[in-house]
Amino acid sequence: MSQDFLRIAVQKSGRLSEDSLTLFKECGIKFDSKAGKLKTTSSNFPAEFLFLRDDDIPGYVEDGVADIGIVGENVQVETGRNVDIAKKLGFSKCRLSIAIPRGDSYQGVQDLQGRSIATSYPTILGNFLKENEIEAEIHEISGSVEIAPSIGLAHAVCDIVSSGSTLLANGLSEVEVIFKSEAVMIAHPSLSEAKRAILSKLLFRIHAVQTAKNNKYIVLNAPNEKLEAITALLPGMKAPTIVPLGTEGWSAVHSVLSEEDFWDKIDALRTAGAEGILVVPIEKMIY
Ligand code: ATP
Ligand code: ZN
Repeated sequence: MSQDFLRIAVQKSGRLSEDSLTLFKECGIKFDSKAGKLKTTSSNFPAEFLFLRDDDIPGYVEDGVADIGIVGENVQVETGRNVDIAKKLGFSKCRLSIAIPRGDSYQGVQDLQGRSIATSYPTILGNFLKENEIEAEIHEISGSVEIAPSIGLAHAVCDIVSSGSTLLANGLSEVEVIFKSEAVMIAHPSLSEAKRAILSKLLFRIHAVQTAKNNKYIVLNAPNEKLEAITALLPGMKAPTIVPLGTEGWSAVHSVLSEEDFWDKIDALRTAGAEGILVVPIEKMIY
């Protein structure tokens, strides 16, 4: 009975922490996230949070010490732990790339043959080299990988890149992207029925939050004779809502637009005769 809550592992402090905590808060889950805490219980959702180093999270989830956790896919794949991916979360996007000293010639992956590469990701790098039939020496180091070439430790590096500014500052240039990563929610593969039910409640809320972020609510005015052309452009959750305006012959149209083709749709709506277009963010989207 006392086990009927979900134990959630999140990174204690680092690049995943803030977005992870924000996600749970946007899902309406209240908890005390004061810095320095190692464990906390939600006051309004059957969940307990453990704050850990990201590298330890897949192991804890595999062992069942935590039921679910949030990590970068890079860490999940690198650790090779047996966990399920419950959901991709869309934040902490980055890539794992091979970089070499700027100015060194590079025609293709065969140029890595017989070279040494420093990395904190020996498994992912090893897989990449194997797939490409390259024999290179992997130097596993746990941090400050970018300085390896300048101190003579390795010819190349394989490290996490987001903007590329760290590589640039260390005189390196990116030559191969070997893995693309984002934050993922991982889950213990055999959760109890009760925990599975709580997880699905949580995933439902995350889905509502994510969908809302990818959509905007729009309200526009249109002369009635143009309504057909305008509504044909609008998907809405079912069909757009049309309300007569106080002004004879005009209506207001309410709908939802996806972030993806938002500006193209707005241009098309204006061309079709829409006026006074209001765009409003959506907090949650449930359907
Ligand atoms: P810890 O102290 O918990 O071991 P760490 O130093 O290993 O932390 P962080 O640098 O906080 O890890 O990165 C955590 C995860 O965030 C990485 O595994 C990766 O998935 C992602 N990440 C790393 N660098 C970036 C970046 N520059 N931009 C976006 N996401 C990143
Ligand atoms: Zn780490």
